[in-house]
Amino acid sequence: MKFKSEKRRNEDVQCFKLCIARTLNPVKDHLERITRQLEKQAETLNFEGISFPMKLKDIKKFEQQNPQVSVNVLGYEAKKIFPLRISEMVEREHYVYLLLLEDKHFVLISDLSRLLSHQMSNHKEKRFFCLRCLTSFTKKEDLDKHKESCEKHDCVKLRMPEKCSILEFKNFKHSMHAPIVVYADFECLTKPIESCKPNSEHSYTEQYQKHEPSGFCFNIVCDGKKIKSVLYTKKSVDENIGEIFCKPLKNEIDKVWTSEAKYMIFKEEDKANFETSTNC
Ligand SMILES: [Zn+2]
Repeated sequence: MKFKSEKRRNEDVQCFKLCIARTLNPVKDHLERITRQLEKQAETLNFEGISFPMKLKDIKKFEQQNPQVSVNVLGYEAKKIFPLRISEMVEREHYVYLLLLEDKHFVLISDLSRLLSHQMSNHKEKRFFCLRCLTSFTKKEDLDKHKESCEKHDCVKLRMPEKCSILEFKNFKHSMHAPIVVYADFECLTKPIESCKPNSEHSYTEQYQKHEPSGFCFNIVCDGKKIKSVLYTKKSVDENIGEIFCKPLKNEIDKVWTSEAKYMIFKEEDKANFETSTNC
């Protein structure tokens, strides 16, 4: 909501003051109108020692001088809203939510949930937002639970990678060597599931198929060499493929372990070195 005024220059300077005054003195219609009454109400706020245009860093001082108000500021960039300043004053009579435009103009947010919901597609129901990270929840209890951990951190601005950008892992020398690796694959038959029709007014996940294992294959690789390969296909309907898979897998790994693993030769001298060393 932007204040309408012919005195645009004055409005840019006074916008913070007027937004706070409007939150403390709500009206039903034309929240954006600057009336003489609103200007008078703005004068009752304590701005001692604060210069205009208002700066983000001075909001803390303003909150200390006006103990009824908690001020939260959001930013707007590349069509996205993000948190700029989240107040530490949590038990106050009035909570003000402002949007800072072009680094200088404060705009009053009259309906925070509606504004933030705009950023999300496919979500029509009311959502509860965490102001620090702008994550949203359908239940207030879930938000309260999230806040317990989120409040321990500074507010964050989510930055997605550029379109088509690639993240690569190149430092293979930093990866850890695994002496035994198992590559396993299950074959499944899909069986339809009979269930009630979900309510299309809410988002839902419909389960319509069940994957029933019909066989498996696994390869055991030790130091880059294929040591063992096992292929199994279900012989009768009542066989439990999960159980059948675990048993030979364990046996084969035990066998590889006893035949391929080499024990360290650790002498008394090595033991002494190990115990006195300070670097790994
Ligand atoms: Zn959060």
